[in-house]
Amino acid sequence: MSKLEFSTFKCFGCTLKGKKKVWGQGNYKNKVIFIGEAPGANEEKFGKPFIGRSGNLLNIMLGEAGIDRELFYVTNVVKCRPYNNRKPRVNEISWCERLLKLEIAKIKPYLIVTLGSTATNVILPNSKSMKLIVGKINKIKIDSYLYLVFPIYHPSYVLRGGIGSEEYLNLFLSLKKVICGIYLTQYRRLRWLISEICGK
Ligand code: SF4
Repeated sequence: MSKLEFSTFKCFGCTLKGKKKVWGQGNYKNKVIFIGEAPGANEEKFGKPFIGRSGNLLNIMLGEAGIDRELFYVTNVVKCRPYNNRKPRVNEISWCERLLKLEIAKIKPYLIVTLGSTATNVILPNSKSMKLIVGKINKIKIDSYLYLVFPIYHPSYVLRGGIGSEEYLNLFLSLKKVICGIYLTQYRRLRWLISEICGK
């Protein structure tokens, strides 16, 4: 597990300034990143993204789709837990978005998986509603690099009954196909990785 920390980043105007930061973690060399919204209580306590109820559901879905979470990098749009677990405010998102862009610039991922509307709206600012783009490959240029983006609902949306778990799992099965498609064209030389993830 590697963390990407940008400790010199200045958070001057953010209303969450001074709170504990939960940095993105995971294997970023495999060039697939998952982006959620913000840390919750457990994430803040243990300093790791997606380890509460939402993280548990994410792990289950990835596991059932045959995707090993440990092989990829997981982060959030906002690195500090908003007070009372509320949704991050515009001010917080716009400050912390700069950190996210630093992470993306460092990793230059082949695929960005956005989990939920907050992450999707940050990465695909002109996107239509989640329903229209979820489970589809979108393209976006960030600082002159073209990225592929695959939006999926946030696990908390599923926990609230937004969609059923079978429909949710289908998105992860589609995601696996997308990852394998990318690896087979861009990452052929890493045969062990293709074999590990795609069973080939
Ligand atoms: S949410 Fe982001 S910008 Fe705001 S204080 Fe935390 S790290 Fe800094």
